[in-house]
Amino acid sequence: MTNGSLSALSWHARFLGETPGDEVVGGRQRQVPGKCWSKATPTPAPEPRLALWSTEMAETLGLERSDETGVVLGGGEPAPGMQPYAQRYGGHQFGNWAGQLGDGRAITLGEVKTEEGFLELQLKGAGLTPYSRTADGKAVLRSSIREFLCSEAMHHLGVPTTRALSLVTTGEAVVRDVLYNGNPAPEPGAVVCRVAPSFIRFGSFQIHVSDGHHETLRTLVDHTVRHHFPHHDARTDDGLVAWLTEVAESTATMIAHWMRVGFVHGVMNTDNMSIHGLTIDYGPYGWLEPYDVDWTPNTTDAGRRRYRYGHQPHIGAWNVARLLESMAPLMEDKSRLQPILDHSMEFAMNAQSETWAEKLGLGTLEEADEALVNDLLALLGATEVDMTLFFRHLCSISEPDIGHLSDAFYEGSEPDTSAWKAWLDRWWKRVDGKPDREGMRRANPKYVLRNWMAQLAIDAAEEKGDFSIAEELHELLKRPYDEQPEHEEKWFQKRPEWARHRVGCSMLSCSS
Ligand code: AMP
Ligand code: MG
Repeated sequence: MTNGSLSALSWHARFLGETPGDEVVGGRQRQVPGKCWSKATPTPAPEPRLALWSTEMAETLGLERSDETGVVLGGGEPAPGMQPYAQRYGGHQFGNWAGQLGDGRAITLGEVKTEEGFLELQLKGAGLTPYSRTADGKAVLRSSIREFLCSEAMHHLGVPTTRALSLVTTGEAVVRDVLYNGNPAPEPGAVVCRVAPSFIRFGSFQIHVSDGHHETLRTLVDHTVRHHFPHHDARTDDGLVAWLTEVAESTATMIAHWMRVGFVHGVMNTDNMSIHGLTIDYGPYGWLEPYDVDWTPNTTDAGRRRYRYGHQPHIGAWNVARLLESMAPLMEDKSRLQPILDHSMEFAMNAQSETWAEKLGLGTLEEADEALVNDLLALLGATEVDMTLFFRHLCSISEPDIGHLSDAFYEGSEPDTSAWKAWLDRWWKRVDGKPDREGMRRANPKYVLRNWMAQLAIDAAEEKGDFSIAEELHELLKRPYDEQPEHEEKWFQKRPEWARHRVGCSMLSCSS
């Protein structure tokens, strides 16, 4: 046991010890009613190579980078102290109850006690579990790079999120039909190790109500509140209401951050909603480049656009409603649930207003600000304007002149100059010609993980095994609010033309 190795960490298994689990270890895909987990063993990668590493996350854990660590984080034999398992949960997918889902390609290695509290380490893409249904339990390199880079970028943007520790390429080909159009092809495989206080989801609770296993629900709620929300008492209606209010608020806060930075999750199913209000399960997510409330990166959702940018706060509330419903069996007075939802919607609306006020440097909200914001959003929607460039340039504008913002407009998209002038004059008057520039810069990142930036990193890694662009982006996005003038020319740019219709940039599928 060497210092800095996985086996030297302080491993715990609180979730396994306190919630009911499957008697069968590993085994075929199956239903496991009444249980919260099944033990499962990761499948070792044939040729593990540790390609990406988060030094900060590793420091928090007390871990040093080494090839041996890479082997374990690529699905190799678990280190002493780990007790790997797959979590069982259900979920509403695209608005419909989907029954048992569970960790089909995620395997938790265990919980590590750190100075910042307990952290769960989970491999994504390390092979089959009882919850893999008809799929293979694997993950491809492109989606693993996207998860690694985006979760780290979100953390540094100040958006609540799960973290990433490592990305290991497996040396194994994984077959995927990227566009679901009958063209399956082999792609390189990878495993990401992600980290969070827990990976408990809204769907983790829902499944037990659907099964009618209220005792398991009770046990899981007790476990969750005791360890993750110890300031609440899950045994009383008052305590449950206070806990659920906190969950609803943190969910709304997380989504307000998404709106602020232009992030579209893409698959806000209830199985992808963390009980901690963390952004979780990076799949066909995307970043707004031209501001467009109707945009969704997810091709699977292109028809109904349920998870489009502008709909995210509403979906957050819908998901909270499903969580609240699932708590009804535990409440003596069930009528106390509805007010939590009402409060959560009001809280979400306020969080949105405050977000736009911060982005525009308005300070304390005034009566007329709602119209000012709405009129801006209408103007932004009417032309092709890059969201990140627009707001960042607005932070340093010296007079209310559209000329200072022209760089944000996409070619061929002519702004209505008199309408813009009128709006800019209003804003300028509102901020007294002295916008809170520093405050605005803290709300409006200069660098985000634009869809095409991730794609450039993926192309280099897939074609040449070259992770230098991924590393460059990982570094760049550790300081997204800093000017970093040396990176401006390359990364503080509108979407290039080649990316407009490129798969992976403008559209993504769940096939990952
Ligand atoms: P997602 O929408 O990606 O969060 O996944 C929904 C469900 O499908 C979860 O239960 C996942 O574990 C499962 N899943 C997704 N991809 C795979 C895969 N390649 N192998 C096994 N299960 C998967
Ligand atoms: Mg998921």
